[in-house]
Parts: sequence; structure tokens; C-alpha cells
Amino acid sequence: MTTKKKQILCVGLVCLDVINVVDKFPVEDTDTRCLSQIWQRGGNASNSCTVLALLGAPCGFLGSLAPGHVSDISVWTKRTDFLNDDFESRDINISNIVWQQAGITPSACCIVNLSSGSRTVIVSDMKIDLSLYQWIHWEGRNASEQVAMIQQVEQYNATVSAELRITTSVEIEKTREELYQLFGHGDFVFISKDVARHFGFNSASEAVKGLYNRVKPGAYLICAWAEQGADAMGPDGVFHSNAFPPEKLVDTLGAGDTFIAAVLFSLYNGKCIQESLIFGCQIAGRKCGIQGYDGIV
Ligand code: ADP
Repeated sequence: MTTKKKQILCVGLVCLDVINVVDKFPVEDTDTRCLSQIWQRGGNASNSCTVLALLGAPCGFLGSLAPGHVSDISVWTKRTDFLNDDFESRDINISNIVWQQAGITPSACCIVNLSSGSRTVIVSDMKIDLSLYQWIHWEGRNASEQVAMIQQVEQYNATVSAELRITTSVEIEKTREELYQLFGHGDFVFISKDVARHFGFNSASEAVKGLYNRVKPGAYLICAWAEQGADAMGPDGVFHSNAFPPEKLVDTLGAGDTFIAAVLFSLYNGKCIQESLIFGCQIAGRKCGIQGYDGIV
């Protein structure tokens, strides 16, 4: 008899990405025709769920949505919408979505420049059944509340046997002082090159070594650095993977979210940090060669 594996839960933002694909970056105050315009479900945690689902991991998303044009779910009218439909079509569990009465679901206008593969983005109380999860990942946002959530998970972990403990991970992507308290939480801490640079480091390897004293004992610190691949540091040393550049760079929007999802997937399946870094770079590299996510596996 095979037992169903527990889920990976990603906590963070979901938004609507309106992606404008252009062959060169528009000049200010000009009319530019885009090559294509694509609606895509976005947000770091939500993107990581897409990749986890494509890789075949049971996963769920925890975040807020507000009723409106881009997201609405009404049990009376059975009306669904773009974001919910997309979550459901990919079999991502959204039973923990919190529906806000006020506010609107955010959307982001993204410009993908085909000539360089660059992307530019213009961005306009936990009551869950922890026993369902094997891994919970937080995209750093409202950090003080997220620390409280992680502490709740730590308390839960203290009450269950070792094999039932939930592994935790956090992503610190933005250079906001408030987010830096997340360094000290999470068994795996992902930082972006922006954060690394903010602390004065010019490579992933310098960053993981220089910032390792901020993570909790036994944790791993991981930093991805575009075409230079990714580095990690843990209690057992330092690790590196080269990048796996695609034949043609098409779309790097969400490369970091893909990298994180693939590393989580690999670790969740019991692989070591070195193998997981390589897998993360392989899948993220493949993603950079395609528009969106379908086709990364
Ligand atoms: P983001 O810009 O989304 O934050 P990162 O720079 O953190 O992405 O890159 C994440 C991973 O994606 C890298 O570790 C690498 O494996 C892959 N990647 C990103 N850009 C490229 C690229 N130009 N060529 C090859 N791989 C890339």
C-alpha cells in the first residue's frame, strides 16, 4: 500500500500578470505595439505552486484574494474566474485562500523583452490544519505576521514525532528592512541577488558565506544569481551549481520562483542540497527558454 505524500503549502501573493511581449523595450512617451499580450496567474508563491504542480508535487496556496474582475468566487452563482480557474486546472489546493471583503486583487503589468529575455514589472491569522503538510514555504511579505506563523509551526513540530515535522522555508526577495527578521526563521532561507547586493555582496557565494551568521543553527542559506547559477551554505559546507542556459533566452519572468519550487521539490523528495541546487538551476534554465511554465518538465 502506498501512502499519499503530504502537501507543500506556499504562503504569499497571487496576482494577475498582464504580460506584454515586445521585441525591444519601449521608449517613454511612444506608442509601441506588443508582439503578444498574455494573462498569467502571478505572484511568487503562486508561481512556485504552478511549478510544483507541474513537477508532480501535491501542493496548496495560502494567500488572500478580493472579489472583483480578476478573481471572484460565488457559491451562489457558481461563477469562477481567471485566477481560481487557473489554480484549479493545475490541481493546486486553494481551500486556504482568505477572501477579503475590502480591497482588490493586485495585478502587475509585465514587459518581457524578447531581444534580451529581461522582464520589467510594474506593480500596481492562520487557521489551517497543519497535519496536512510536510513543507510550508513563505514568500517574505508581512514579515512580523509570518514570523508568528512560523512560530506556530515550530510549536506544532515540538508536539509531533520527527517524521511528522513540517519543514519550513522562507524567501527574502525584496530589499526591505522588515523582511530581514525572516533570516532567523526557516530551515531553508532563499535570498535574491538584490538582497545580496544590498548587503554589499557581488556573488552568490560571497553572499551565502557573509550572511550565514543570520540564519538559525542548522539552516541552509541559498542564493540564486541568474546566469551564474546558485550557491548554498549549510552546516555541512558550501555548495554551487552552474546555470543551465537555454538555447534561446525567451522569458525570465518567474525564473526565481521556478528555481525555488524545483529546489523545494527536490529536497521534499529526499535529495541532498547539492543535487537540489542543480535540479533547481536545470528547471529554472528550462523555464527561461519558454514563455510561461508549460513545458518545463
Ligand atoms: P529572478 O530574476 O527571477 O529573481 P534569479 O536571477 O534568481 O531569477 O535566477 C534564478 C535561477 O534561474 C538561476 O539560479 C538560474 O538557474 C536561472 N536563470 C535565471 N536567469 C538565467 C539566464 N539568463 N540563463 C540561465 N539561467 C538563468
